[in-house]
Amino acid sequence: MPDTDADAADAIDLRSDTVTRPSDAMRDAAHEAAVGDDVYREDPTVDKLEARAADVLGFEAALYVPTGTMGNQIAARTHTGRGQEALVERESHVYKWELAGLAQHAGLQVRTVDGGERGVVTPEQVHAGYVEQDGHRPGTGLLCLENTHNSKGGTAIAPERIDAAAAAAHEHDVPVHLDGARLFNAAAALDVPAARIAREVDSVMCCLSKGLGAPVGSVLAGDEAFIEAARRVRKLFGGGMRQAGIIAAPGLRALENRDRLADDHRNAGRLAAGLDDLDGLDAHDPETNIVLVDTDRPAEAFLADCESAGVLGVPFADRQVRFCTHLDVERAGVERAVERVAEVA
Ligand SMILES: *Cc1c(COP(=O)(O)O)cnc(C)c1O
Repeated sequence: MPDTDADAADAIDLRSDTVTRPSDAMRDAAHEAAVGDDVYREDPTVDKLEARAADVLGFEAALYVPTGTMGNQIAARTHTGRGQEALVERESHVYKWELAGLAQHAGLQVRTVDGGERGVVTPEQVHAGYVEQDGHRPGTGLLCLENTHNSKGGTAIAPERIDAAAAAAHEHDVPVHLDGARLFNAAAALDVPAARIAREVDSVMCCLSKGLGAPVGSVLAGDEAFIEAARRVRKLFGGGMRQAGIIAAPGLRALENRDRLADDHRNAGRLAAGLDDLDGLDAHDPETNIVLVDTDRPAEAFLADCESAGVLGVPFADRQVRFCTHLDVERAGVERAVERVAEVA
């Protein structure tokens, strides 16, 4: 790993699984990648990544995109027409953390449903939230689901629940997009292939740059016609990249890191148990690699103390913080993080 300043190298960084650095194997893969101009469809490494991603996710085709946010926004724009409604979970990333992109990029009005403690959207909620287009009403153009659900603490939603919500939307001819930024975490936690979870949806986005460890990039999968249309929208959004094989090659490596996500989940369990034992902390039982911890004092103050002890997390609510396990923190690092937080808790 390249040198950083001593403090940063020493801190145990549990802010997010996005902080993972590319491995030597990924750097070698970038170095050796065959490349061409991908806007001309001449980059063999991007082609390989898209084919592999489509295969792993169980779709006809896939599109390499710079970020998960862009993947979600491209999907929304591709599935819908201006002035329609998107039905989304109230705490979903696409609604909460993407700068009102659904409004800005796709001209959509958002209708939210409350997915409760685990962020699960039910078929009843889909039927109730559906708006039929008429002389006054915009019509529902998209249902967006999320798995794992980030804001609910990385909940892994069973394929049957995704199927049921998707079937309800399809009864109204409404397409379904799955924000699967951490879909492979859900797959590992539920011990099912990612393709099974995404079987009934029309498109899915997965991040390569989170727990899988790629330096950049996400993939959007769907049928051939959808991906062809999405490719045009990617260009419109400024996401048409040239010799992108340089970053797609590490992405291909990252796709093969799926099985090790279970290690992160075990580490999250250990972290939660260790923190929960400390005074003033109440850790939620993690389903995947995200650990939410309720604090008896303001989250910012608690995190400042953690940082001085060499552990980094992020605030999630006034008195709640999030820690995220990932491939750059081994079991020993997790144990050390618990010891360090114990000094300041
Ligand atoms: C991280 C994340 C995204 C966005 O991915 P970026 O690559 O950071 O743009 C989208 N959805 C969910 C659920 C996420 O956790």
